[in-house]
Amino acid sequence: MLEAGQSYEGGCLCGAIRYRVAGPSLFESQCCCRDCQKATGTGHTTIVGIMRDQLEMAAEPKIYTNNGESGGWVSRHFCGECGGRLYTSGSLPGEVIMIQAGSLDNPSQVTPQNVIYGKDAVSWDHFDPALTVYDLYAPR
Ligand SMILES: [Zn+2]
Ligand SMILES: [Zn+2]
Repeated sequence: MLEAGQSYEGGCLCGAIRYRVAGPSLFESQCCCRDCQKATGTGHTTIVGIMRDQLEMAAEPKIYTNNGESGGWVSRHFCGECGGRLYTSGSLPGEVIMIQAGSLDNPSQVTPQNVIYGKDAVSWDHFDPALTVYDLYAPR
């Protein structure tokens, strides 16, 4: 988990976009929703929830917005040069944004607490059996 009082750096694949996140994280999850699968080309994405003002970007990412399954809009922020995913924001849950864990310089500092959108998980994607799998969102 990203901890209070610590800051964490990350960036895209090519290095054109760098960012800094102030801890603590609000939640850390594996998300198996279809949109994450399409946007990453993988079975799930690992997300770190923080408040918007905990993120400091050194350059402007490109943004792709669509309607999320939960009903609101969802914007995916990524590098226009290399396509590396950085974070996701949306109308739901508002001021909470989700960093793509793999974009952190040290992604091993992330400890997923649960699996969300388990209803869309694919059979070849395997998770820590200690994690609770929720059909949709985890209750907060
Ligand atoms: Zn890049
Ligand atoms: Zn998702």
